[in-house]
Amino acid sequence: MSNPSPAPDRPPSVDQLARSLADTGLPHPLLVDAAREAIAAGDPGSARSAAAARARTMLQPVVNATGVLLHTNLGRAPLAASTDGRASNIELDLASGKRGSRTAHAGALLARAMDAEAAIVVNNCAAAVLLTLAALAGGGRGVAVSRGELVEIGGGFRVPDVMAQSGARLVEVGTTNRTRAADYRGAMDAEDDLALLLKVHRSNYTISGFTEETSVAALAQLGPPVVVDLGSGLLDAGCPWLDHGPPSWLAEEPAAKQTLKAGADLVLFSGDKLLGGPQAGVIAGRADLVRACAAHPLYRAFRPGALVLSALQDVALAYLDRSAGRLPFWRMAAAEVDDLESRAHRIVETLAGSAGAEVVSCASVPGGGTLPGVEIPSAGVAVAGDRTAELRAWSPPVIARVEDDRTILDLRTVEPDDDEVVVAALRDLGGA
Ligand SMILES: *Cc1c(COP(=O)(O)O)cnc(C)c1O
Repeated sequence: MSNPSPAPDRPPSVDQLARSLADTGLPHPLLVDAAREAIAAGDPGSARSAAAARARTMLQPVVNATGVLLHTNLGRAPLAASTDGRASNIELDLASGKRGSRTAHAGALLARAMDAEAAIVVNNCAAAVLLTLAALAGGGRGVAVSRGELVEIGGGFRVPDVMAQSGARLVEVGTTNRTRAADYRGAMDAEDDLALLLKVHRSNYTISGFTEETSVAALAQLGPPVVVDLGSGLLDAGCPWLDHGPPSWLAEEPAAKQTLKAGADLVLFSGDKLLGGPQAGVIAGRADLVRACAAHPLYRAFRPGALVLSALQDVALAYLDRSAGRLPFWRMAAAEVDDLESRAHRIVETLAGSAGAEVVSCASVPGGGTLPGVEIPSAGVAVAGDRTAELRAWSPPVIARVEDDRTILDLRTVEPDDDEVVVAALRDLGGA
């Protein structure tokens, strides 16, 4: 008696189906998931597309053609980073052989670059704010903040909520549109335990009209330590790392070095906004206050590892030797429109009519919740209709934007080396 042969429409085994997808390069357990999903859906043939969909959820390099320099969904400032796989002296003092400090490298170099006494690095600026408030004003001590600066940065970061989490007590001063030194002085008289004066940069909105705010220099005259949450992290207003100095769109942006010079005791900022580095938060300024932050238990929870610190150390060194203009963010931010236009023309010529691509003038934005309303003239390539989904499906994914029923690929945020990726993705749209 022989076994009956399986019915022709009998589904393949999960394992068989998963093995048939091995060429996708995904590890076997993920292929098993895709195979299971397809079989459960009664469509084993869809296993390959299920595996491809799974691969697309993984972290991977993409081409940012959105024109948003610091795109939060694309990891803000782009940065190459590599380690050589060895251990590092992250907490070893090579001179003495004893336990060293995590702040001795990236933090110390950043401090040097902005003329601060000291600096420490945490995971992001939100952590820097929370840690600073907890360390310097925890236990219910008062922190004075202007009512015009009780901001929401996005992603759930609201100053009053962060204040509550830190254990500090929010003391609101002034009004939404006007806050004077006398308002802070009034709070100092009314509160006998005012620990800090906190100034928060209105990163993502502006107020105009009948407005008045108190300068850092004026706050520094009042007595309590002045902490400034700068957010965006422009290191030096003079931008000595750029050949032509600061671009005009940065004119109003407060910088770390000048804010400290004006009398701030601490400045707090992100690593991946206008600093152009990895995701991180920096607390810089008076050595005793920085030490108090480093000694707080939350620092242990917020400190980054060697991957981030080594990337940030490279960024700090670039600022110190004035080569920060070569960091990807600054290269893109300072690129001349003429050069972007030439690249756009070359792309369109190479395509030779494919996809109906045209050169366009467009406007980039800084992004990352910085510099609201600022537009930077740019150039790119446009094709008719919304083709963003197809471009995202390209490998590597190309992220574009839609404007007036056209898909715009803004070249300011595209690495010149990736122009050929743009060409290939657009040629594919043209069906050639
Ligand atoms: C962006 C920003 C933050 C949050 O920074 P993250 O690094 O994203 O945590 C906090 N404060 C201000 C003023 C900001 O602009």
